[in-house]
Amino acid sequence: MGESDPHVHVDVNVVRADAAVRNVLASAFGLVGELPGAVTTGCGLRVARARTSLRPESVTCLACREHAAREHLRFAGEVERLGRMPGAAIDPEKAELAVRQYRELARRFGGDG
Ligand SMILES: [Zn+2]
Repeated sequence: MGESDPHVHVDVNVVRADAAVRNVLASAFGLVGELPGAVTTGCGLRVARARTSLRPESVTCLACREHAAREHLRFAGEVERLGRMPGAAIDPEKAELAVRQYRELARRFGGDG
């Protein structure tokens, strides 16, 4: 734990932390853009943000990879549902793009499967 932990983790809110889709989700979920310096990881640790990564290839903590894959799939489903609602809060094309990005990230976090 702490200083001796060699792993790179993901923010427990890995999906929302992704800048590429944060703006899209902000309108739907009312998120703020500010991120704290220390984060809770997908495996339940508390580490500096610098010890986490949003790049699937950089995350070495297995529990965090599984968490991230799961979260991206879950959010993909959620955004897909939101985008299809009549009078959707998010633009359907942006929703579709976000869904594609989430599923791609889920695949990369989950390994080659
Ligand atoms: Zn972890």
